[in-house]
Amino acid sequence: MHIRAKVKQRLRMKKDNEIGLAPQPSKLFGTSDTVVRAVLNQLEEVKCPLCHVAPLPFAVDYQGFQLCSCPSCGLQFLSPRPVVEQLTENVYNETYFAETETADESKSADRYQFARQLANLLRLRKERRGTILDVGCGDGSFLRYARYEGWQVAGTDIRLASGARKMNCPLWEGQLPLIDFNEVRFDVIRFNHVLEHTQNPLLELAAARKLLAPGGIIFISVPNIAGLSARLKNAQSRLHLKQKRWRHYAALHHLWFFSPETLTKLVEQAGLSVLYWETPVWKKSHQSSFLEQVYRKLLEGSRAASILDFYCAARRQG
Ligand SMILES: [Zn+2]
Repeated sequence: MHIRAKVKQRLRMKKDNEIGLAPQPSKLFGTSDTVVRAVLNQLEEVKCPLCHVAPLPFAVDYQGFQLCSCPSCGLQFLSPRPVVEQLTENVYNETYFAETETADESKSADRYQFARQLANLLRLRKERRGTILDVGCGDGSFLRYARYEGWQVAGTDIRLASGARKMNCPLWEGQLPLIDFNEVRFDVIRFNHVLEHTQNPLLELAAARKLLAPGGIIFISVPNIAGLSARLKNAQSRLHLKQKRWRHYAALHHLWFFSPETLTKLVEQAGLSVLYWETPVWKKSHQSSFLEQVYRKLLEGSRAASILDFYCAARRQG
């Protein structure tokens, strides 16, 4: 979403944020539990969307958010969580949507990421381009890139930014499950750091599945809670070695936390099957090419990097 794109750029700048991708766009980020509780005072209990059972808490972060996991499927999420109205007002506000820096480093990282995703999609689609819907298209930078690469682009966002509007392509405003697309279908639907912010990721994917053209692919990218970086920070948080414990979960705006196992369960329950998955390492311009290659090879080879990318197709039955 708008959210995602803006956040993503800031996040990348922050060294200690590989997994949580927690930026500083809202005045609530990094504040104490007292401040957070005063502003976000309406909470709602959440059940596992896959199993419909109440979760078990396993930690409380430095802002007082309770991290839980489903005793049945292991999906991790926030419960209780702030209600959507208060999140919209106090987290996804103007500060959150403020324009971000357009440093060459972030542009170059974006281009690397876009190129990698499109290359994987082309390979899986046997080199056929087509229509691509970017859910949470933000400033439209992916739309621009994909169009230049020969794709027909379209986008949605909770609030459409001017950058996206300038693209002169089909755009819809609102949450995906609530949008009426009429008869329009897409060859690719992209959720790039979007699912972890949504109210119900199962409903998002089920809605996307219905919008897929025959042979279409749904692309999902989320923080990897089972990555090496997350595991190290989990241990530091448990041992009270971190001043801001569990900050890497970014619970203020992330409501769901996925591992390869739980994301697989989610996509399967949404009627999808996983065609291919990887844990990409984003390009870092400050690293030497040799170090970058070693780092990349180790983390990607063991699928332990901090980002989880899934490429999925609709299952034939249902
Ligand atoms: Zn469950």
